[in-house]
Amino acid sequence: MELGGGMENLTPEEIDELHSELLELNEELQLTADVSEAGTRPVDLDEPIGRLSRMDAIAQQNINKANRRSVQMRIQRIQSAIQRIANDEYGECLSCGELVGLQRLKVQPEAPFCISCQSQRESGRPASVVRPSGSG
Ligand SMILES: [Zn+2]
Repeated sequence: MELGGGMENLTPEEIDELHSELLELNEELQLTADVSEAGTRPVDLDEPIGRLSRMDAIAQQNINKANRRSVQMRIQRIQSAIQRIANDEYGECLSCGELVGLQRLKVQPEAPFCISCQSQRESGRPASVVRPSGSG
């Protein structure tokens, strides 16, 4: 009996490819984090800022901080994906254990969740595995 239309496990070649992708992303983002760190010096209130008002400068600083946080969070996800490859657990959803899927991993190799768990998290609704049975 064949599996109908289900997602298949990743081949070693595919994992290898995604692994090097993750390593590259990791390095790239480490650099990005360093660069944006340089942009988050405290605002010097005595110094004339020119066209930027003080409020603007502070707002800009908060944006830099937020960017840096999201870069750091992504680095963490990437590093845990690399860890999962080492543990032979890569490609499985951390929430439901289903396969995340190659297409999704190609776009986002660090993705820890399958698309349905991810969208549940993003919509902020509590995860629910109970589905009403459809009427035929
Ligand atoms: Zn899932």
